[in-house]
Amino acid sequence: MSVKNLIEGKTGLWEVVIGLEVHAQIISRSKLFCGCATDFGAEPNTQVGFLGAAMPGMLPVLNRVCVDQAIKTGLGLQGKVNLVSVFDRKNYFYADLPSGYQISQFTHPIVTGGYLDIDLEGTETKRIHLTRIHMEQDAGKSIHDLHPQKTYIDLNRSGIALMEIVSEPEMRSSAEAMAYMKKLRTVLRYLGTCDGNMEQGSLRADANVSLHRPGTPFGTRTEIKNVNSVRFVGQAIEYEIYRQLAILEDGGEVVQETRLFDPTKGETRSMRSKEDAHDYRYFPDPDLLPLRLTEARIEAVRATMPELPDAKKARLMADFGLSAYDADVIVGEQEIAAYYEEAVAASKAKDPGQAAKMIANWLMGEVFAALNRDSKTIESMTLPAAHLAELVDLILDETISGKIAKDVFVKMWESGKAPAALVDELGLRQISDTGAIEKAIDELMARDAAKVGEYRSGKEQLFGYFVGQIMKAMQGKANPGVVNDLLKKKLG
Ligand code: ADP
Ligand code: MG
Repeated sequence: MSVKNLIEGKTGLWEVVIGLEVHAQIISRSKLFCGCATDFGAEPNTQVGFLGAAMPGMLPVLNRVCVDQAIKTGLGLQGKVNLVSVFDRKNYFYADLPSGYQISQFTHPIVTGGYLDIDLEGTETKRIHLTRIHMEQDAGKSIHDLHPQKTYIDLNRSGIALMEIVSEPEMRSSAEAMAYMKKLRTVLRYLGTCDGNMEQGSLRADANVSLHRPGTPFGTRTEIKNVNSVRFVGQAIEYEIYRQLAILEDGGEVVQETRLFDPTKGETRSMRSKEDAHDYRYFPDPDLLPLRLTEARIEAVRATMPELPDAKKARLMADFGLSAYDADVIVGEQEIAAYYEEAVAASKAKDPGQAAKMIANWLMGEVFAALNRDSKTIESMTLPAAHLAELVDLILDETISGKIAKDVFVKMWESGKAPAALVDELGLRQISDTGAIEKAIDELMARDAAKVGEYRSGKEQLFGYFVGQIMKAMQGKANPGVVNDLLKKKLG
């Protein structure tokens, strides 16, 4: 048995508590405190200067673009953008952190509060509150697998701007944590403040997980570091829930520690005991003044905000009658939503509502299938939105049937030609001319007189057979509605 979001153990019910700390790399051409480039995949150590390599006496200079990006993210996540925030040094030793400290924000982050509405099964949503968003520098990268005895250090990433987005411990299952990651990624991509590329590490999550008896204080948590895919977030949390459950059910205690997820084994393992904030000896960075923002600057950023996915979803549902599910899929990527709206705008159908729904079906059906098959994305595909709209219009004005339209789709996908031109070129125009259809029916009735007799004496299921025969005789081009009507009249 499982009560919603509770786990039934041998000794009773447990509640799962999850809070996520997400590191999102800010989209910016240069780093947080210097002019070095941020391109992914560059030759090691070609994008690091004196500051990133921690040469003595180098001074950090704050990058305005990164600050505006953090403001935009705060506004997009409904947080409070603080007019004063402070950069602190977070001290620790790591081979890929040559300065011995990371510049971060601790007591005064740039954003406090905010929330994200996550989409759960069906039409259910849940609001997850945010604690804070702060800016910080990324560290370099230690490469252990290039040499059997040596570790190499690549400092290209050193000093790249990150936002750490910290949630309240309000998620109650791995499914909620995955939905949170997905939604956060979508919002950041809409905002254009993080590319959300989890494989390249532009977005990575630390998952904090604990178990407790419902109605009692929270249990001791463990933190799983740097999980870099939505699926792994789910797997890591599931593993961790059941690892902790086994300990607690045996009367043991969970040790507060930092763990690592191993995707090949599907397990988490201990990495180090958890450090507390005081271990880092945070103090305000003496090289940087507090960051002071004006209301005018925040408003200027607000003026550049795009329509966000929740608003877009509501609008698509209201304006085009899309179902919540369809609207969710379409707003999932900004490019898909833009393509969809472009197609709807291009349609000349008499009933725009009907066209909008059909365009959604074709987009999510044929177009997605073709993209999948050809390993393409909506950005790299060549099918103009206007062609998809034209195809749907041809169905709606009965120039072609839905069945013929599938053939036309394949041809237009391959050739890049417009569907109306293809229909003419291939002679696929639907035949609604009653004379031609009546002639075909008469021929069929003469040929199949026995079946006509059976039909008339009550074997009504033969009707489909007659329709099929007529469609076949007319190479699928007969208007099915007209065929139905005429057949009924003639057979009746
Ligand atoms: P840090 O990990 O840096 O010490 P915090 O104490 O602020 O920082 O917590 C970080 C994250 O852990 C937050 O996302 C918070 O929601 C989550 N968290 C805090 N307590 C628990 C708990 N008992 N179980 C699960 N998550 C928790
Ligand atoms: Mg943490």
